[in-house]
Amino acid sequence: MSKVLAIVNQKGGVGKTTTAINLSAAIALEGLDTLLIDIDPQANSTGGLGFGRDDERASTYDVLMTAVTPDAAMLTTEIGTLKLIPSSKNLIGATIELIQQDRREFRLRDALEPLRERFPFILLDCPPALDLLTLNALVASDGLLVPMQAEYFALEGISELMSTLDRVSQAFNHGLALEGVLMTMYDERTNLAQQVTANLQEFFGDKLLKTTIPRNVRLAEAPSHGKPVMVYDPRSRGSDAYRDLALELLKRNKIESPKAKERAKAA
Ligand code: ADP
Ligand code: MG
Repeated sequence: MSKVLAIVNQKGGVGKTTTAINLSAAIALEGLDTLLIDIDPQANSTGGLGFGRDDERASTYDVLMTAVTPDAAMLTTEIGTLKLIPSSKNLIGATIELIQQDRREFRLRDALEPLRERFPFILLDCPPALDLLTLNALVASDGLLVPMQAEYFALEGISELMSTLDRVSQAFNHGLALEGVLMTMYDERTNLAQQVTANLQEFFGDKLLKTTIPRNVRLAEAPSHGKPVMVYDPRSRGSDAYRDLALELLKRNKIESPKAKERAKAA
């Protein structure tokens, strides 16, 4: 069984890319084959995993627009079980070019279909917009993972995102559901963070994930070294938090990883 998760929030700077890179790395380090697809023209996941933004190389753009297969565009990262389909600058034009394409909402879903057997987890790093690229991600996904910054305006835009989820699941993808809401850049010492947590708890109930991601400078530094935080600084709080998040999501989905089996045997 495979799980395709879109990491979505139309707000920029809420931690989508940081979550995409480090959650996929943490799942891959649990011994599960994981694929991250960068569908943001800004290509931050691509850069954060140590690859340049190169229009010559096959990318998400080619997978969406041409007959290039996902395998032909796939790169192997420093963590062998983590693969990446990179973004490129020409993806900027894709939102307009897609309009002309057959099955324009289903391009990504169709491309991913043959990969589901091989990858227990496929994560999609979305652009900060509810555009045709994000729509492709929603149509291709089983679940939405929504990172939110614990700030006063956190819930702004969320009703629009939730109504988009409803419309997409009715019109294109009955299998789509909210997987979870993740608090990022969290500082539990502030009253504001606690107040925002209480609001989100009320709004989302058990869809609010137990794991919160603290503000941690190692998470901000790691991409400039082209590494996930668990490679850059495995002892950091950021590394621990994303590992906890991976374990929480595996547990919620009743997926036992090879590493979990080893731990159970050793105990
Ligand atoms: P998005 O993809 O939603 O635009 P990013 O993941 O790129 O957001 O995060 C925006 C900025 O905040 C980046 O500079 C990133 O390094 C930083 N950042 C994200 N999460 C954290 C965190 N938990 N602690 C510290 N900095 C973070
Ligand atoms: Mg991003």
